[in-house]
Amino acid sequence: MAGSTSKDIIIVGGGIADCVLASRLHEKNPPSPSSSATNYGTWTRGNSADYDKWKKLVGNPQWSYKGFLPYFRKTETCHGEAGGVDGLNHGVNGPVHNSSVSTSCATRRYSLKEQLRAAWASVGAQQIGDGNAGSPLGIYLSLGLSELVENWHDGNKVVAGVELQDGTTIMATKEVIISARAYRTPQVQMLSVIVPEEELKKHAIPLVSNLPVGRNFHDHLAVCQWWKLRDPDAHPSVDNLKWQDPGMFVGLPCDWVATQQTDTEELRKALELDVGGESVDEQYLLSSAAAHTETLIVYAPAGAQIAGVDVPMDGIHIASAVLGMMPTSRGSITLADTDPTMPPVIDPNYYATEADKTMMREGLRSVMKVLLGTPKVRETVESELAPDGKKLTVDLTDEEIDERVSRVGNTFYHPAGSVSMGSVVDATLRVKGVEGLRVVDANVFPVTITAHYQCVVYALAEKAADLIAGD
Ligand SMILES: Cc1cc2nc3c(=O)[nH]c(=O)nc-3n(C[C@H](O)[C@H](O)[C@H](O)COP(=O)(O)OP(=O)(O)OC[C@H]3O[C@@H](n4cnc5c(N)ncnc54)[C@H](O)[C@@H]3O)c2cc1C
Repeated sequence: MAGSTSKDIIIVGGGIADCVLASRLHEKNPPSPSSSATNYGTWTRGNSADYDKWKKLVGNPQWSYKGFLPYFRKTETCHGEAGGVDGLNHGVNGPVHNSSVSTSCATRRYSLKEQLRAAWASVGAQQIGDGNAGSPLGIYLSLGLSELVENWHDGNKVVAGVELQDGTTIMATKEVIISARAYRTPQVQMLSVIVPEEELKKHAIPLVSNLPVGRNFHDHLAVCQWWKLRDPDAHPSVDNLKWQDPGMFVGLPCDWVATQQTDTEELRKALELDVGGESVDEQYLLSSAAAHTETLIVYAPAGAQIAGVDVPMDGIHIASAVLGMMPTSRGSITLADTDPTMPPVIDPNYYATEADKTMMREGLRSVMKVLLGTPKVRETVESELAPDGKKLTVDLTDEEIDERVSRVGNTFYHPAGSVSMGSVVDATLRVKGVEGLRVVDANVFPVTITAHYQCVVYALAEKAADLIAGD
């Protein structure tokens, strides 16, 4: 029933960003469905150079890796190896606990770990002690291998309030914060008449502010492959009868995160086709600090269902996933109509640039070498269980890769960027030209980051709480 109440600050959403904000701003935060309740628990900060690109783009030193670091530390309680925790890089008192696979549980020992370590080394990977210290590639390397880390939980135009679906209005005496995530935040904003002009024309809504909401959408595309094990008794995967120890179920069944840089010359050729001319040299992707893909080999047939490929969870299949971490393709979120209960139109526009294709192809070629081209792993991995029976070989062509990407490529659930800092929100997360409205979620990332985004969203929300409390 319609009615009206009033609060100081209204937070729209119940996910990671909203809960951090609510607890830091001393509100109550009842649990509600969010991506953090369903996610895999991987905890990766990514590459410090990506954040520095963000800083450069918005011209504000606070949005650099150095600016984020206090908030990464504030968010976490890091459980380090026996040698302790590197206090300069990590926090020890935060609400989110994290540890590497080997420190998480004494009996959590996956039998393929050492073989995969050796296989990655044979294709040039160098092991890094701490992948969450801002350099997952290592120093001057093009392929870094670090142990997987996971988290577990403790758990002038003025915006005056929000109107709920049932017509109830809640007025905000101070401000409204939208943290409804990549798809719904731009929708809520567009329905609140902060829209690009062309959306107005389509849906006949009155203009309050003309901002490029819903543009610059980016996501990490994942391309999974599924593999049959030769000797599952010696090297079982999830659901094998040998997979009994509770320690094996503590987190994602995976040991390594391989972070890779694509060959610079190949990437240059691709960028010349995409952007052309002199600006190619200025492209961040060609910087020696940039990392481009990430590969996880998971001891379960992960991702098969969503890709529509029939791989049984029978203890004898594993999966590899190559993620495009630095896509230059940009998608969009637009309104389907003006009904807030309808989903918006999501066009991720994956794999649309030559650069994205070049990065993904090289990542896939590397994982093929690891799983099919290294003798030790060949003793363990029998063959690919390919969709539609079309198996790939180590000498796979660009065309074969592209066909596979279009068949199985999927989101890795890191949608972001469509309310970007610089173009829609300012460096204090306020929507430009609108009083009393902020956005606090992954939508504000103006650039792609080689991280899995929960860690960044936690730090962003901690920083937002400081910004709001300081006002
Ligand atoms: C299956 C899956 C696995 C993932 N695995 C990992 C991982 O292992 N590691 C990692 O780092 N990241 C992972 N992620 C990504 C990570 O969970 C997200 O980046 C993070 O949760 C984003 O936080 P958020 O606060 O922006 O959004 P969310 O946590 O999704 O919160 C958004 C909130 O807004 C609410 N909402 C939506 N629309 C409205 C509306 N109109 N009105 C009011 N409320 C609304 C939703 O109900 C939700 O509570 C995964 C995501 C998914 C989906």
